[in-house]
Amino acid sequence: MRIASSHGRLVVSRGGGWIDVEKASGGRFAHDPQAVYDCWDEFLAWAADGLDSSETVDLDGTSFDSPVPRPRQIMAIGLNYREHARESQMAEPEYPVVFTKFPSSLTGHGSTVTLPSDGIDWEVELVVVIGKGGHRILPEKAWDHVAGLTVGQDLSWREVQGRGPAPQFAIAKSYPGFSPVGPMVVTPDELAEKDDLAISCSLNGEVLQDGRTSDLIFPVPELIAYLSEALTLCPGDLIFTGTPSGVGNGRNPKRFLVPGDLVSTVEGVGDLTVHLVN
Ligand code: ZN
Repeated sequence: MRIASSHGRLVVSRGGGWIDVEKASGGRFAHDPQAVYDCWDEFLAWAADGLDSSETVDLDGTSFDSPVPRPRQIMAIGLNYREHARESQMAEPEYPVVFTKFPSSLTGHGSTVTLPSDGIDWEVELVVVIGKGGHRILPEKAWDHVAGLTVGQDLSWREVQGRGPAPQFAIAKSYPGFSPVGPMVVTPDELAEKDDLAISCSLNGEVLQDGRTSDLIFPVPELIAYLSEALTLCPGDLIFTGTPSGVGNGRNPKRFLVPGDLVSTVEGVGDLTVHLVN
């Protein structure tokens, strides 16, 4: 199943057309896309037999906004692909490198993002959306806590990130529009090989990153187990799982984003486009 938001209304699709959830459920589920994660199991049970006879709505691909507009928490992981750790001239981490992206930086598919300097870097990422929350989730149970997967960019101002004796990830990656996600959330059952997906991004048609999620040092179940050992994960939380190699900061000479279309893709999950402007 695919879950999206169109003009702030929750819509779902199981391969056919898109269905407006509030209308199709007779008001049992709210139109607010964020609210559905708080009753995820109930929603899945309804969707399993409530969709087929429902009236579809006409959507073109450009009318999606963020499918997870107000998560309580956004967690992100640094240096989680081997080749990216190498290009960053860092050792492979022994434990996941955890930071936060503040929720005010979220935006959706098709949005316009203003580049606040000429030193902004790209990082395509697979993003996990939590369904059922929890504390101390075991790795073997972790996928049961995932509502779905979406595509994200962890836009990063490298100069800000490097200020100070310790990395300033949280603020350097939380400027307005620095956390685009979307265009939709895809439930794990739609993906035959959910631990091995092609992941890439391109700027104005030029491929910048091209990897596979099977290269993750800490895959999704291990991240959920590690994070939830400390935190209580909440329904609708987001986890940015890290970026493959090919970022601009790791190049010689360094390269950063210029205005244009940044398209980020995860196989079977979707293509997320943002329009970059000065
Ligand atoms: Zn990142």
